[in-house]
Amino acid sequence: MRQTVIYCLLSIPLVVMLLWIYIEKWRKAKRDARREILRQTPSSAQWLAILQHDFALFSKLPSALQQTLLGHMHVFLEEKDIVGRNGFTVNERVKVLIAAQACLLIMNRPGDYYPGFRSILVYPETYLANSVRKEGLLEINSSSIRAGESWHRGPVILAWDHVLQGARDRRDGHNVVMHEFAHKLDEENASMDGLPILPTHTQYKAWSDVLNAEFSLLQHKMIDGFDDVIDSYGASSPPEFFAVVTETFFEKPQQLRRLHPALYEQFKACYMLDPITWLTEKSTEENDETIS
Ligand SMILES: [Zn+2]
Repeated sequence: MRQTVIYCLLSIPLVVMLLWIYIEKWRKAKRDARREILRQTPSSAQWLAILQHDFALFSKLPSALQQTLLGHMHVFLEEKDIVGRNGFTVNERVKVLIAAQACLLIMNRPGDYYPGFRSILVYPETYLANSVRKEGLLEINSSSIRAGESWHRGPVILAWDHVLQGARDRRDGHNVVMHEFAHKLDEENASMDGLPILPTHTQYKAWSDVLNAEFSLLQHKMIDGFDDVIDSYGASSPPEFFAVVTETFFEKPQQLRRLHPALYEQFKACYMLDPITWLTEKSTEENDETIS
């Protein structure tokens, strides 16, 4: 009798654990089913008009990828809250353009919809951000003008004028939404260190070798006063390098592949996309003219 009681008591944690696993599996299945329904939701004519008018990359995508992107946007907008700041009104155009640019990064990758946060705060234009950093016992307050930021496990903050400019110009190599959401991908594996979760385990060694070498190369070029297709801000840290090269990969793919072929291949494998193939013959010629 006493032994039976002991066995019963010992088995309680096991039962609780099995119940927890069952509930988690049930929740995930329910969430996946809901997401699948959302991905199949037809997109309105208003959405398509906004994308064709204001998101220059959208018309370059093959139609199958356009449909994939639209499906992901429905899930993204269901799961994230986009909130205006400083009197800014969030309308359908704001939602669609933020969702489209954010979902471009994840539309072909296995994974989630930027887990760990829900809020996207939108200012009408560049805003003043205050920050506090500690140096020993001292607390140093500073402020800077920003177009966007991504808080670790916290909100993404965006300036609408830069969101719109980034969407309309697909070739300038600057896109604040892609930049900040690349930081969100980076933090999915806990630390923000320039290493996102890669689609397969076998990719990590090559990623580390190539990214370390290219980051070091960019730092030396900046010190020596040379320009690169990758913006100099990428040389400030490995997380910024990943975010800046993401912008370059989608907006200047030909220049990136020509000047940094190994890096282009790593990003192609990371995003499971090849933006060069989206360019028409005419736009290929246009892009080549801008190579420096
Ligand atoms: Zn950044």
